[in-house]
Amino acid sequence: MDIAIDTSKSRYHVDKNGYYGRFGGAYIPEMLYPNVEELQEQYMKVLSDPGFQEEFTDLLKNYVGRPSPLYYAKRLSAKYGAKIYLKREDLNHTGAHKVNNTIGQILLAKRLGKSRIIAETGAGQHGVATATVCALMGMECVVYMGEIDIERQAPNVARMKMLGATVVPATSGSKTLKDATNEAIRDWINNPVDTHYILGTAAGPHPYPDMVARFQSVISEEIKKQLLEQEGRENPDYLVACIGGGSNAAGTYFHYLDVPEVKIIAVEAGGKGINSGFSAASTKLGKIGIIHASKTLLMQTDDGQIVEPHSISAGLDYPGIGPMHAHLYETGRGTFLDATDDEALAAGYELSLLEGIIPAMESAHALAKLKDLDLKPEDVVVLCLSGRGDKDLNTYITNMKK
Ligand SMILES: *Cc1c(COP(=O)(O)O)cnc(C)c1O
Repeated sequence: MDIAIDTSKSRYHVDKNGYYGRFGGAYIPEMLYPNVEELQEQYMKVLSDPGFQEEFTDLLKNYVGRPSPLYYAKRLSAKYGAKIYLKREDLNHTGAHKVNNTIGQILLAKRLGKSRIIAETGAGQHGVATATVCALMGMECVVYMGEIDIERQAPNVARMKMLGATVVPATSGSKTLKDATNEAIRDWINNPVDTHYILGTAAGPHPYPDMVARFQSVISEEIKKQLLEQEGRENPDYLVACIGGGSNAAGTYFHYLDVPEVKIIAVEAGGKGINSGFSAASTKLGKIGIIHASKTLLMQTDDGQIVEPHSISAGLDYPGIGPMHAHLYETGRGTFLDATDDEALAAGYELSLLEGIIPAMESAHALAKLKDLDLKPEDVVVLCLSGRGDKDLNTYITNMKK
């Protein structure tokens, strides 16, 4: 992990108060102060420690299988008329980028003397990545998951249990991700001394957005090296990633945020269409507000009630967006597009046939916008293939029959 990067003069990295422009911060209940303050004070010290770096790098290499390949997708490139590279996070152990973050956070938890891990999960991907590293480290693991998600995502629930985790249903509200997150925060308040909360995306109170972005920044660190090797230059013309809370995107952009010639493209879940009432496009539909202790853009009613998001992919089904991305949106540094459920499905089928790679539904949203970029033949595009589609086979199969 390239911790030496000086982010202090950047307009796009977190400032010393935990803000990205007017977004971010830590709007936490008083009872959570000790937990969050400990993290704020400790995280950069721990991350900069050479012993920590060594252990993190070793596990990413020998356990996760990094570096993940940067694959030149020839047939996809021919179709869209540009040089398209796929950053293959789908090849990581557990099948997505999420494990980069859970490895980093569990090593941090160990160094802070914690013995118990809690996490929230929506589709179960972050729950599985957390249960995996808890098994690896022999630590107790409790995963909060909405009751409805538990029904929808039975295979991931089985995986978590097999890995030794306790899965606790969240039965309040819509019984999905945001409710699971609330339950996890409640648990943390009650267990401040021995418990670390492994948050699964670049959202939540400072320092989580920056901490998670740093663990995921291995993605752009590798892209720079790999692109230099394969194209003779570190900088692509376009970086494309899908955004739920924003962790794979934050990792993909991290080392390029202050390189203005690299265009940043973020793809949100348009669901059944932006104006359909069934969408998860948090920047376009969102207004400034506070969700999970962070000031950011979120989908809410005029009186501030959170609007239920919809997306065909459970990983993008979140009503907010991490504060780094809210700031990239507001400053115009990032271009925010949205892909509908149908566009994402079509892109998923297309990549399967063109390249022999079945992408996660989330990643398929990023792929779906290649057609909307104004690409020239000499353009170099790097797209983060955040995960593999095995978990989405049911969705793919059901929609194929129609
Ligand atoms: C969870 C998930 C996402 C969305 O999360 P981010 O934090 O926005 O990256 C995207 N792709 C896959 C494969 C996921 O599992």
